[in-house]
Amino acid sequence: MDRDAPTTLARGAADPSTGPGADDLLAALAALRATDLPVHGGRTMAYVYDAGLGGLDELAARAQETVAGVNGLDMTAFPSVVTLENAVVARAAALLGGTPRTAGTFTSGGTESCLLAVLTAREHARRTRGVTAPEIVLPDTAHAAFHKAAHLFGLRVVSVPAGADFRVRAADMAAALTPDTALVVASAPSYAHGVVDPVAGIAAAAAARGVLCHVDACIGGWYLGHLRLAEDVPAPPPFDLSVPGVTSLSVDLHKYGYTPKGASVLLFRDAELRRHGWFAHASWPGYPVVNATLQGTKPAGPLAGAWAVLERIGTGGYLELSRRVHLAVRQLTDGIGRIDGLAVLGEPDAALVAVAGDDPRVDPFVVADEMRLRGWYLQPQPAHAGSPANVHLTVTAAVADPARIAELLEELAAATDRARELGPPTVDPGLLELAAALDPDALTPDEAALALQAAGVGPDGALPARMAPVLAVLQALPAPLTERLLPEVVSRLYSR
Ligand SMILES: *Cc1c(COP(=O)(O)O)cnc(C)c1O
Repeated sequence: MDRDAPTTLARGAADPSTGPGADDLLAALAALRATDLPVHGGRTMAYVYDAGLGGLDELAARAQETVAGVNGLDMTAFPSVVTLENAVVARAAALLGGTPRTAGTFTSGGTESCLLAVLTAREHARRTRGVTAPEIVLPDTAHAAFHKAAHLFGLRVVSVPAGADFRVRAADMAAALTPDTALVVASAPSYAHGVVDPVAGIAAAAAARGVLCHVDACIGGWYLGHLRLAEDVPAPPPFDLSVPGVTSLSVDLHKYGYTPKGASVLLFRDAELRRHGWFAHASWPGYPVVNATLQGTKPAGPLAGAWAVLERIGTGGYLELSRRVHLAVRQLTDGIGRIDGLAVLGEPDAALVAVAGDDPRVDPFVVADEMRLRGWYLQPQPAHAGSPANVHLTVTAAVADPARIAELLEELAAATDRARELGPPTVDPGLLELAAALDPDALTPDEAALALQAAGVGPDGALPARMAPVLAVLQALPAPLTERLLPEVVSRLYSR
């Protein structure tokens, strides 16, 4: 008999449900989904990753369904999660320079992997080196997740400016190390520009000081790890655990692993380092607790979905998908170079392309608006430090085909021409002057409402169809003020 079959009692009991029928509820969900961006087809070039392979979604859904109800909180009660997690971690370690000593943890995503890497380093520094005021040394291009980690776990951020090529210099990172440094981070690649930091130099400097070094390969690890297995493609720069001095590495499966969302792996040089991030508690009247992640009750669905997709596509499959994406990125960057008014920022090492305007009449945010009208979502990235305003394109396998890229380039050229005609949005200088005088910490709700209205945000948080004018205002405001205003916008959306 099926161990998971409902008991006779449950089956025989009268159904106490009082809500609408299942069909009605599912129809309501489908109607809601129609308001979202598409998650397939490759035209949504942020947030979603589509392998473009038939049957993969069905496999992932069935895999998740098979383990529905399982609670990864207690691995002794549900040993399936141990087997699956070991298999997934082993695959990641084999791909990314692991040794038999390499240990790992399956997490809910890149942010959780980065948070745990920082927490582990903080505890390691405290326990092994007596560091009580820990610092984290970050390239200024590092993912926001590390700032979140520093904020949550009480580390001081030491931010090191990247060079004109958007890669940080190893010597600058080395110079930022102090006896209080708990962790140094390098990106492989960075999200914003898709370039790989000089991992070897940074890791060597960290090792020389006895400091831990984390490689954030969240977005690029699975892609670059497989791409370098292709013989007809130039090898990406070394970035993984095989680089001396690298002590941990994060790689998201729900990005270029094309698995269901909620799937990332955090690798450590060994289990002794990994244990510093674990939480164990036996001093309460309940069950003894050992948590390797931030979660308590933990769904097994993302793990089972990831395991099934990784096994199904396999190393050879990922190699081929990575090759196709690599060729598509080359075609895309070459093509953008030929579009009058656009320029690729830096020289991307992976499948992320940041595109700025190289004509003052072409505003990249207007290009993004125009592309959205044409059915493509490109992600606006406001200007920061040496990086001008740009749009970010995440190239996934679903769009990695010469005809699709040619179509994208055609639309981009047309959107750019239209953006030039429209010109950049203007920001009222009086508004900026007013904003500069505001103290974000002392901003009252009424003042925040006024500022948002001036930026074009509706009282209910509604955003206009054209986002360029709103982004132009937000980009021109001081970051602390923007960080005060953005939650106001979101809070209006979640006002029930
Ligand atoms: C996506 C990403 C993260 C965070 O991952 P989430 O899965 O979105 O939480 C961290 N670092 C880099 C470089 C990323 O691209």
